[in-house]
Amino acid sequence: MSEKLNIVLFGPPGAGKGTQSTFLIERYGLVHLSTGDLLRAEIKDETPLGLQAKELMDTGELVPDHVVVGMIKNKMEANLDAKGFIFDGFPRTQEQAEALDEMLNMKSTPITTMLALEVPEEELVKRLLGRGADSGRTDDQDESVIRNRIATYEEKTAPLKEFYSAQGKFVGIDGMGDRATITGRLVEAVETVRAEQD
Ligand code: ADP
Repeated sequence: MSEKLNIVLFGPPGAGKGTQSTFLIERYGLVHLSTGDLLRAEIKDETPLGLQAKELMDTGELVPDHVVVGMIKNKMEANLDAKGFIFDGFPRTQEQAEALDEMLNMKSTPITTMLALEVPEEELVKRLLGRGADSGRTDDQDESVIRNRIATYEEKTAPLKEFYSAQGKFVGIDGMGDRATITGRLVEAVETVRAEQD
């Protein structure tokens, strides 16, 4: 059995990945790797990478694979003693998923499970518009950008369910309900997977 717990927390924009990550990190002592957060930090610091990423993020398109893979790699290298990682918003394409497997296989610490939060589109739009009103995130304030992000997810990211299913790692999680109930479902799924591995 692998001692590290590496979770891909998966789902469309607005599914609750960031919120739920906080609770899983606390419970299992994991390091959070969110490509969205890493990109927003680059934008805040006005780096060349941030400036390039901002244009794409503002329209709901994906940032190039090599950019996000490089950022994840750096963060993983900086946290080699972690108990495990929670990948939030990454991978988002087949190429990213393959690069991630390669990085983890080199360290003999594969993905433990992919937990996919499932939420209907109309609820996603409602949640994101609500978040935009509070957080100031511009990509959450325009319904056409939100719809484009969901469409990008369906086209490029949702197929990764097959990628992880083929490895026997896909677990669908009902993402509707109150926050703690959903955390409970995620924890139960992690415990089930770990018990199966023992
Ligand atoms: P959400 O899940 O609400 O879309 P994120 O913070 O995960 O929020 O992502 C915001 C934006 O950052 C995405 O719309 C995309 O432009 C960019 N982005 C984040 N992660 C990736 C990734 N893994 N690959 C490409 N682009 C990404």
